Amino acid sequence: MSEYPFIEQEDPDIFRALVGEDKRQAEGLELIPSENYVSRAVKEAMASSLTNKYSEGYPGKRYYGGQEFTDAVESLAVERAKKLFGAAFANVQPLGGANANIATYFALLEPGDTVLGMDLSHGGHLTHGHPVTYLTKIFNFVRYKMKNIETGELDYDDMRRVAKKVKPKIVLAGFSAYPRELDYAKFADIARETGAVSVMDIAHIAGLIAGNAAKNPFEYGFDVMTTTTHKTLRGPRGGMVLTRESADIAKKIDKAVFPGFQGGPHMHQIAAKAVSFAEALRPSFKKYAERIIANTKAMENVFRKHGVRMITGGSDNHLILLDVWTSFGISGREAELLLDQAGITLNKNAIADDTRKPMDPSGIRFGTPAMTTRGMGEVESAQVAQIMIDVLTKRTSALAAKEEITRLALAHPIPDSFIHP
Ligand SMILES: *Cc1c(COP(=O)(O)O)cnc(C)c1O
Repeated sequence: MSEYPFIEQEDPDIFRALVGEDKRQAEGLELIPSENYVSRAVKEAMASSLTNKYSEGYPGKRYYGGQEFTDAVESLAVERAKKLFGAAFANVQPLGGANANIATYFALLEPGDTVLGMDLSHGGHLTHGHPVTYLTKIFNFVRYKMKNIETGELDYDDMRRVAKKVKPKIVLAGFSAYPRELDYAKFADIARETGAVSVMDIAHIAGLIAGNAAKNPFEYGFDVMTTTTHKTLRGPRGGMVLTRESADIAKKIDKAVFPGFQGGPHMHQIAAKAVSFAEALRPSFKKYAERIIANTKAMENVFRKHGVRMITGGSDNHLILLDVWTSFGISGREAELLLDQAGITLNKNAIADDTRKPMDPSGIRFGTPAMTTRGMGEVESAQVAQIMIDVLTKRTSALAAKEEITRLALAHPIPDSFIHP
């Protein structure tokens, strides 16, 4: 029977697109480091009748009646989130990672205040002050960078010097395209010395932190963490803000999320977040997080053996940035296209201080969270890295590589459950 019996009958156009996407996900190899596959349990929560309910406000303090079950759902999501990350407070209502960041800025800043964040070409995210966002019309973003692109070490001395000069209200850590651990204690010190709130955007590595495979910034004194729930954390598309201990900060964040910035919470998504948090609290999730890193290392070893240039020289986490321009004499856009033809999905990416244009940069970015969810291990990871090199050097045609990739994908079906496999 079809997975979508009602849509099949009532809306054949959307049905065809859904079936096509399911097939694309099943047969292709997903290496975009911000993507993953959720369990059927998470999908069931997303498709539940909670989508019909308005529940503006917070548990016990709503603007509408009929909140017996929504209160239960949101309270469970909050308790599980607090436990996963060692937080005293959690707001699970942000609709996405961008919303979590925007609400946090509005909670902690006045217009014109300064945020000290990572340079975007060195790994930071659009919402960390890219000029195309409206945030830059309201707040002042100042940048720090890597000191050494070959090792990924940040310039903490310069960061401190700049912080003393510009007096930021937020010292912001976090990234979308940076493969190394940060020195959280140094960040927290700099924030304390300058009277700023320290905020870490863990969107990419939330699952690694929850699974104890990466350091937890709260253990080094960070005040706030913002995140998505759909990347390594393997939950539904959504966002969240965690506060380590300050009730004052948490209260400001709650007010900024609602009513400051959002309307009614998407309670079906919050139920799905709660389900995914319960999955992440199980011991098997620790193994998942460890395997993500082991698989990245297996890929890294193949690239190193072949002298391929990796930004920062390798990876401590789930993602790798390759300089394909230097290594293979092709642009990031061409590499993305070639690998796409081979059934491998990843994205072109600017590398630090890239001399090429953003739409056709020097690098590609990819990672192992999704393939690890499919049960692929170090052998398959090394195999994929080798196929990538063969395609990028044009030793193998994309078409021939695609056969191998499809075989690999079909041999590792997307699991329905991480509890009863
Ligand atoms: C993905 C990401 C976001 C944005 O998340 P959305 O859910 O797409 O809004 C924010 N910050 C970082 C560091 C990210 O990687």
